[in-house]
Amino acid sequence: GFLKVPKDFSKSVALYEEALKIIPGGVNSPVRAFKSVGLNPVFISRGEGAHIYDADGNSYIDYVGSWGPLILGHRHPHVIEALERCLREVGTSFGAPTELENILAAMVVEAVHSIDMVRLVNSGTEATMSALRLARGYTGRNKIVKFEGCYHGHADFLLIKAGSGALTLGTPTSPGIPPGSAVNTIIANYNDLDGLNEIFKLEGEDIAAVIVEPVTGNMGVIPPAPGFLEGLRNLTSTYGSLLIFDEVMTGFRVAYGGAQQLYGITPDLTCLGKIIGGGLPVGAYGGKREIMERVSPSGPVYQAGTLSGNPLAVTAGIATLEIIRQPGVYEQLEQSSQALASGLAEAAGEAGAEVCLNRVGSMLCCFFTGQDVKDYASACTSNTAQYAAFFKAMLEQGVYLAPSQFEAAFMSLVHGDGEIDETVEAARHSFKTAMEK
Ligand code: PMP
Repeated sequence: GFLKVPKDFSKSVALYEEALKIIPGGVNSPVRAFKSVGLNPVFISRGEGAHIYDADGNSYIDYVGSWGPLILGHRHPHVIEALERCLREVGTSFGAPTELENILAAMVVEAVHSIDMVRLVNSGTEATMSALRLARGYTGRNKIVKFEGCYHGHADFLLIKAGSGALTLGTPTSPGIPPGSAVNTIIANYNDLDGLNEIFKLEGEDIAAVIVEPVTGNMGVIPPAPGFLEGLRNLTSTYGSLLIFDEVMTGFRVAYGGAQQLYGITPDLTCLGKIIGGGLPVGAYGGKREIMERVSPSGPVYQAGTLSGNPLAVTAGIATLEIIRQPGVYEQLEQSSQALASGLAEAAGEAGAEVCLNRVGSMLCCFFTGQDVKDYASACTSNTAQYAAFFKAMLEQGVYLAPSQFEAAFMSLVHGDGEIDETVEAARHSFKTAMEK
């Protein structure tokens, strides 16, 4: 019996019932509701390092990390000190430029090799929406290509065959999107260059941009097949279309310079979010100077934000990057993530569970399928009932995973050997439980 003490979830249940009356589905973002794993969500009261604590006082090793931003874990002292100082000495927002914005912008420009200029926004959704508006404004073309199962935020024209919660909850193409918003979105298969070639042969002259998660996280973790990103780069260049890397999740995650550093590809535009806000709301889009200068007020493509680049959010981002730009950080993340992945693979093997463990750096995903997961179709061969059983067993033993098969698990710098051992131990039991499904 690994389940040390049966957990009491009564406070979370009461809070959820209260929330259901006043918030749609009881949550402010869909996947939080635990719907796809058939459970009630746990309400979190606080976090510390690699751990979170729920309203009933249960503790968990956290592999969600606020869905990616918390690469330093919860309440990292350097980030907290910077935020406290900002609150005491600066303020929360002016709607006027501050030196802090220059500092974060310079850090982004230095880190991400394709970015000469960057505009800060408040979320990943805003970053992708704005980058695509810019791509259309710059090229004078309307069509865009996105890949099935990739998620780029919830703008109308991007919520088509989308991943993440839209996929998990069975509405990859949302109602409420007029047909007119969808006509210019072309859907392609991830890791399928031949399919993309066909699309470009037919419509290449009208395609403003291809947007891609260079490593997907929103249909679970799928690495780009060798040559896929190079192929995207060549094809878009040939047709005068822009290549947009949506690095909201992978930026500062798979390498300090993002997936474009890891794979040596130079996109025209890059979208960022999550880690650059250090747990506060920040997004960004940036790229070649010639393109970025088309953004208002230096150019005609409009985009604005009341709270964009506010000192508090920017401060959390700067403090986070100050830590993760230090030598050895990504080596440590690689090592600990590798240890976790091999522990999980071994535990799955012992239980006779057929899984496909995909990992790129500190992004991991354990698909419950015997197939090699390389695109949307193969991701969909996963046994989600087994995942749900695995998730529940892990939760009961104090490990908080994403409540969906089609999401990444994130390691942080403060997930150490102790956490990894505990997680693998819990997984031994949980894989066995899952196999009973
Ligand atoms: N792009 C990607 C790749 C993402 O993973 C996400 C969020 N998970 C978004 C865009 C949207 O970001 P946000 O939720 O901050 O709007």
